[in-house]
Amino acid sequence: MMIPRYLVSFDTGQIPNLFCDVLVIGSGVAGLSTAHSLSHFCDAMLVTKAGLKDSNTNHAQGGIAAVLDEHDSFESHIRDTLLAGAGLSDPVATQVLVTEGPSRVVELLRDYHAKFDMRDEHFDFAREGGHSCSRVVHARGDATGSEVETALSRAVIDENKVKIIEGAFAVDLLMDGKVARGCLVFDSKGKLIAIWSKFVILASGGTGMIYLVTTNPRVSTGDGLAVAFRAGARISDVEFVQFHPTALHIPEEPKFLISEALRGRGAFIVDVEGNRIMEGIHPLLDLAPRDVVASRMFEVMKEERKNHLYLETRHIDPILLRKEFPTIFQHCLEAGIDIRKMRIPVSPAAHYMSGGVVVDLDGQTDIPGLFACGEVSCTGVHGANRLASNSLLEGLVFSKRIAEYLENHVKDFTTSRYPRISFELDWRKPRFKLGLLRGNLREVMTDSVGMMRCEKGLKEAFEFFERNEEILQTEFMSVPGMELKNMFEVGMMVAMASYLRKETRGCHRRRDYPDVDDWNWKKHIDLKLEDGEICHEGRLTHHPGIDEVELKFVKGFAYGRD
Ligand SMILES: Cc1cc2nc3c(=O)[nH]c(=O)nc-3n(C[C@H](O)[C@H](O)[C@H](O)COP(=O)(O)OP(=O)(O)OC[C@H]3O[C@@H](n4cnc5c(N)ncnc54)[C@H](O)[C@@H]3O)c2cc1C
Repeated sequence: MMIPRYLVSFDTGQIPNLFCDVLVIGSGVAGLSTAHSLSHFCDAMLVTKAGLKDSNTNHAQGGIAAVLDEHDSFESHIRDTLLAGAGLSDPVATQVLVTEGPSRVVELLRDYHAKFDMRDEHFDFAREGGHSCSRVVHARGDATGSEVETALSRAVIDENKVKIIEGAFAVDLLMDGKVARGCLVFDSKGKLIAIWSKFVILASGGTGMIYLVTTNPRVSTGDGLAVAFRAGARISDVEFVQFHPTALHIPEEPKFLISEALRGRGAFIVDVEGNRIMEGIHPLLDLAPRDVVASRMFEVMKEERKNHLYLETRHIDPILLRKEFPTIFQHCLEAGIDIRKMRIPVSPAAHYMSGGVVVDLDGQTDIPGLFACGEVSCTGVHGANRLASNSLLEGLVFSKRIAEYLENHVKDFTTSRYPRISFELDWRKPRFKLGLLRGNLREVMTDSVGMMRCEKGLKEAFEFFERNEEILQTEFMSVPGMELKNMFEVGMMVAMASYLRKETRGCHRRRDYPDVDDWNWKKHIDLKLEDGEICHEGRLTHHPGIDEVELKFVKGFAYGRD
């Protein structure tokens, strides 16, 4: 199947050209924090495909995991992260995440005036799945993401140094030879523009919309992953799609998340008879890592022929429920569920892409000039399964590192000559009904490349892609059309990596290969586009086992230390 280099036909000599030092794509935690840091020393521009706050970040509930309590330790947070990552997390990147994280959280509080929930002038820590202690800081109870997004966007808007273009859809990277030098953008008036820059930062978030049932908002169509892939970037670990165990099971899109923090406060999952389903499954019971809880739910739902289970909350102090989980409380109430008196119907939903564009510790991809941070990137910290509340943290830590790196390098780049690029898609007249094909794609991904996979189902997914291959050659001058092509390409990547990985590990589950197979599969699956074809390669991890990791830092209290 041939994937064309660009989504649409264009000629940069025939469209408006804009220039900046650094172009940031996306306005979630990763994009906003990078753009804000960059604006202190260079001319930064930010494009985002919808409104400034339309992002996964704005929906995040539970909080940010960071070692900020004297009873906690770096070692413990690293261990929890590596354990969740099921042998594929990179311990060096994880050390960076964990040791630099506390300073980034303190900066949010001190410099961006984010209002975290406090108790006696200390952070009020919550506990979430896979964490061996309470270390998750949160804001407005269960509205942490909205507080973070508001604080960062306020800083960017008030200082007025970043040029922001809303409604600007990043279509494809513009290259000077093998170096990324900007992006082709489809603006809110339906016109293409070329934005040239010395460096490009991809911060375009996740891929949840490729599945029918997801907690992600509509903007999460995996555009950035497809953009980087078409330009030749190495993509890794995309088979590890995390399904969150407890999305509210009512007909709405996206699915409303019932944060794990509620289980941290004692809620537990039961079947229709009220039996606890996690007893005897994992020592952490309902706070086991997400892959464990979600797959147990999947099993029970299948056995009992149900499409959902329940979260039991009625034994929790009703005043606490309302005070600590105001968003969940209100949302459920509006759906006719009073969580003080009724169990919450829940089912797993696609939540997080653990893999992405491979980057080093400074956020550099293998395309010179291109950086990536946040959910679109693969720093290596999540391995086969992300630990709860490590994602906002990753966005903060690695975006800061990119800005620090560029502060030393942006001045070195002096050229003001950019190439003229044109492309003609050998296009076919659209014969697809966009909405129908989008629905079909999401259904195939859910049925065949979802929580439980097997060779037969994955082959059916490939047949779907082959049958509809023509979509790749079809030219759509509309955001839904371009999103659909991106979703199609991301779907192919996830299906291919899932087919190749013949084992069960982290959030990749194979019915036909139910065991972990370290001997053959303790490695990453890298995908790359070469001459329009998807190529794959196994990259052996050199990650030592958890007990072999040498922790090179001082154990213990970490407040404010990098
Ligand atoms: C319901 C929910 C709850 C969550 N709770 C938590 C939590 O408690 N703790 C935690 O750590 N993580 C949580 N997560 C995960 C976390 O929110 C995300 O992983 C994180 O916010 C990703 O940040 P980001 O900046 O990489 O991407 P996003 O916040 O998704 O931002 C991506 C941006 O890129 C833009 N964009 C996308 N494509 C294009 C394009 N083609 N052109 C231009 N712009 C584009 C989007 O519009 C958006 O502005 C949660 C996620 C969800 C969905």
